[in-house]
Amino acid sequence: MTNEAATHCGICRRVLDILADPLSTDCGGDCWGCVGEIEADIGWPESLAQVRKESDAGLRPDWIDPVRR
Ligand SMILES: [Zn+2]
Repeated sequence: MTNEAATHCGICRRVLDILADPLSTDCGGDCWGCVGEIEADIGWPESLAQVRKESDAGLRPDWIDPVRR
């Protein structure tokens, strides 16, 4: 293992596990930014609650709450 081999999200290519980026958490090869939105879209309550919090904090400018679509 080497630190130079950064892992990227399989969906959006974001570099994973960047401390300064709360959406870059590695969720099995994809970032939480992508996985959270997918899980929120299919109705996972815990993911939806967390994604809402991040949206309120301005971290997800492109995300629209399913109840407002
Ligand atoms: Zn991603």
